[in-house]
Amino acid sequence: MSTLRLEIVTPERKVYEKDVNMVVVKGVAGELGILPHHIPLVTPLKVAPVKAKIGNTNEFIAVHGGFIEVRKDKVVILAEAAELESDIDVSRARMAKERAERRLAQKQADINAHRAEMALQRAISRLETAGDK
Ligand code: ATP
Repeated sequence: MSTLRLEIVTPERKVYEKDVNMVVVKGVAGELGILPHHIPLVTPLKVAPVKAKIGNTNEFIAVHGGFIEVRKDKVVILAEAAELESDIDVSRARMAKERAERRLAQKQADINAHRAEMALQRAISRLETAGDK
């Protein structure tokens, strides 16, 4: 089975680098499945888990926005923050989710609501990636 190299990078570190068979991401325009030899593209991503298929297994990485760049046989994801399934602190994400929900329920100024909404999305995506639904 042919592969492509997937790299996930944040300003702090390289979170992931592996040869995979397929990458599935949530772009702003919808879900994208990328196989080897996909046409080159660059598109922004939503806050959502990224799925890497390797043989019969799927690996999930929580990717918090950023961009995906599809090159010839390489896919690079650049994001503000990203965590492997195994690196996610589930209780921290649960607390962040509750905090964000509380802030949203208080209906403060718009800018705070936006911040809380983004924090909520990150927490939900982390919990989904870690398989805690
Ligand atoms: P919190 O309110 O818990 O800090 P946050 O969404 O505000 O969550 P970010 O600003 O997205 O956190 O991330 C800050 C750093 O902490 C990043 O390096 C990110 O990878 C890491 N991080 C945040 N939440 C978690 C978590 N639940 N498990 C593992 N790493 C996390």
